[in-house]
Amino acid sequence: MSLVVHKYGGSSVADAGKISGVARRIGKVKDTGRSIVAVASAMGDTTDELIDLAHTVSKEPDPRELDLLLSTGELVSCTLLTMALRNLGYDAITLSGFQAGIRTDDMYGRARIFSIEPDRVESELAEGKVVIVAGFQGITDDLDITTLGRGGSDTTAVALAAALGADRCDIYTDVDGIYTADPRIVPDARKLPEIDYEEMLELASYGAKMHPRSIELGAVNGVPIYVASSFTEVPGTLIHRVEKVRELENRVKATGIAYQSNVAKITVRSLPDRPGIAAALFEPLATRGINVDTIVQNTSAERTTDISFTVTRSDLSQAVDLVNAILPDLGGTEVVSDSTLASVHVVGSGMQNTPGYASRMFRILADGNINIDMITTSEIRISCIIREEQVSEAVRLLHDGFQLAEEG
Ligand code: ASP
Ligand code: MG
Repeated sequence: MSLVVHKYGGSSVADAGKISGVARRIGKVKDTGRSIVAVASAMGDTTDELIDLAHTVSKEPDPRELDLLLSTGELVSCTLLTMALRNLGYDAITLSGFQAGIRTDDMYGRARIFSIEPDRVESELAEGKVVIVAGFQGITDDLDITTLGRGGSDTTAVALAAALGADRCDIYTDVDGIYTADPRIVPDARKLPEIDYEEMLELASYGAKMHPRSIELGAVNGVPIYVASSFTEVPGTLIHRVEKVRELENRVKATGIAYQSNVAKITVRSLPDRPGIAAALFEPLATRGINVDTIVQNTSAERTTDISFTVTRSDLSQAVDLVNAILPDLGGTEVVSDSTLASVHVVGSGMQNTPGYASRMFRILADGNINIDMITTSEIRISCIIREEQVSEAVRLLHDGFQLAEEG
């Protein structure tokens, strides 16, 4: 029998009325004879509120306790959703991440799923039940509850879809699809009917609100992901393997403009220019699970070099502390940081092999008087670090300059 996995974000289950609405949507799918598993996030801003609450009683909440606390948010929304479904006459059951067999490592606050044992979900489905699974959480080998990182319910949903062999994973949210740029910044941004995993991964990592790990999981397991609004019936965006037919190489087009506004930069000055320095600098950050993004190492002058890299602003103080702690061993002179940066990204497959994309981006930014602090490129992305206060303007100028409002 065909199986679908749905995911409903926090804004889709923000109050009792919305929860009942979601229950009706799920019921309609069930009425067509399909099996359905639905993953929900915590109601509205519950997770933020729980984090704030934790910080009112403790300067640095214990990570294990914090995860256990945060996991309760999804239990509230999911049990209410199940009750609403039962009220409509559907047989339904809630499973916590633990009960759904979602096994993770023990990196609290950013745990990764290493396996899913779907037996319980499957047996409930076999009994004809709608299964509601609490998003964003899992369990370690020692039976401690973990969370997957902010926005992690997307990843729960896609991981479950992969483990259960579902036909598709539908992500229902408060935006009705993936756009060529954030429509709140660029009013003529265009909704994409479909997008390739690779391009979406870049957009999700740098802007469009989806947990990037969910896209990775979808790509690796071949799960098509459909992003649409939970409030309307308008068609959304299908993320899947897109075969691009490009008749003319020179007509390669950018797919979208992404941005990130919470970028912080750390510069380590006058490091000795010898093998092992970069490894010694970045290994401790990796061990703590701090994601380093853009990295720039200057060419060495008098056998010393500066290394700059960016992290999310929320990781800045931890990262600076770590680097300061190892600075004497590294042999650098000082650590400086800047937390007022942002990044803009032009995304599109085939760009790297098409001359002129990077220079076009730089020209557009230059004409807009936007200074570029750092530059990186990947096969399908060109990224610039700029001042945060210029990010909206940069996104608008790039969307316009790359003519993304126009079809095809
Ligand atoms: N409730 C969690 C958060 O707000 C997980 C999620 O929304 O996916 O980050
Ligand atoms: Mg949420």
